[in-house]
Amino acid sequence: MVSSLSSSLGTERKLVTEVPGPKSRALHERRQAVVSAGLSNGFPVYIERAEGAILEDVDGNHLLDLGSGIAVVSIGHAVPEVIEAVSAQVANFTHTCFMVTPYANYVEVCEELARLTPGDHAKTTALFNSGAEAVENAVKVARLATGRPAVIVFDHAYHGRTNLTMALTAKNMPYKDRFGPFAPEIYRVPMSYPFHDGLSGAEAAARAIGEIESQVGAHNVAALLIEPIQGEGGFVVPAEGFLPALSAWTKKNGVVFIADEIQSGFCRTGDWFAVNHEGVIPDIVTTAKGLAGGMPLAGVTGRAELMNAVHEGGLGGTYGGNPVAAAAALATIKVMRDRDLAGRARELGAAMLAHLNSLAQDVAIIGEVRGRGAMIAFELVEPGTKKPNAAAAKSIVSYCNSQGVIALACGTYGNVIRLLPPLVISDEQLADGLSVLAAAVRAAS
Ligand SMILES: *Cc1c(COP(=O)(O)O)cnc(C)c1O
Repeated sequence: MVSSLSSSLGTERKLVTEVPGPKSRALHERRQAVVSAGLSNGFPVYIERAEGAILEDVDGNHLLDLGSGIAVVSIGHAVPEVIEAVSAQVANFTHTCFMVTPYANYVEVCEELARLTPGDHAKTTALFNSGAEAVENAVKVARLATGRPAVIVFDHAYHGRTNLTMALTAKNMPYKDRFGPFAPEIYRVPMSYPFHDGLSGAEAAARAIGEIESQVGAHNVAALLIEPIQGEGGFVVPAEGFLPALSAWTKKNGVVFIADEIQSGFCRTGDWFAVNHEGVIPDIVTTAKGLAGGMPLAGVTGRAELMNAVHEGGLGGTYGGNPVAAAAALATIKVMRDRDLAGRARELGAAMLAHLNSLAQDVAIIGEVRGRGAMIAFELVEPGTKKPNAAAAKSIVSYCNSQGVIALACGTYGNVIRLLPPLVISDEQLADGLSVLAAAVRAAS
């Protein structure tokens, strides 16, 4: 066990077999017999160790990670501070259930979340295990606190895979198809998507608000739930002014503004939260993914008067705010603060944008490059149109994989490539990944 801590993986991408290699292929055979076929197969290389931005598979290949396990290990793999904090907590105790007998690090995580989330109002937090669970609980709180039923969500939204969050999520395949019936009182309105709608933020907000007022009625709305930059839906960055206009409308109408920062939060976009870029102060913020350096932890942080409106026992869960995950979160937040990973995200973003914008000049299949900080994507189109080109995205991801680079697609139409490197990736590693990506794009063109 300890040997994995003492020997370094190095910093370079290096393939010693074809990928997936023979050991991965053997594991994959075993998988077919016992793992549900309902789980997707991104890139079936089986991982044994990881460090920084490098994954080592069972065949000894060293892969460059541009996905961070979907924006989770933003601080990188195997960070010594996290290993130490988690190991110490495991040795002390792993579980009591916070609702039965509490412990300090749960409270400390809530103190950090109160400090870090936008706004200086009094805030309280409840901790959970997954992003979907956090979103569900944010909706529970908003409905109880307002006494209203309706929840507003947006085109291209992704909020999870549980029954309520499937209803909140936009995309049918693979998330919702034949899994209904879905929860009621969810209303979907158009997102600001400048590449396709050409609207200013104010115009797009007026369109969405018009639909809400005419089709739902503001007084029926408990919450407006939005990802400040959409994740799975395609890294859609709303036009400037869209989020502030929605926020102002919610304030005026007694609607709870819930920012789902599960993918965009925790330094990913170059600030602690994506809403900070436009000075928006949500009533409730949901967090997960980047929060705990790879351990499962999620938070619902909101105005104390909303969060505390819930009767005692109304929120919770056996494992929510598990002490090991809480220890990981405290170490993760400290690393983010001490190493200014928000600043690093801005540097990485500038490098990725420069590289991709120049690539987009040379090829006809990149319709738009967009994103903020180290949450950058490009949308692939049929040349000369804005029609989605999912085939290109597929071929780019598989080319990258064949070269030992982990890249992820996303988007309602599967035609967006997203880059979510660990924020500790070095300049050299990023340049290496981007050069493979460029070759993949050219090959798909
Ligand atoms: C990943 C994600 C979720 C769901 O989180 P899980 O931990 O997978 O349940 C919810 N919202 C957003 C924005 C996400 O990116």
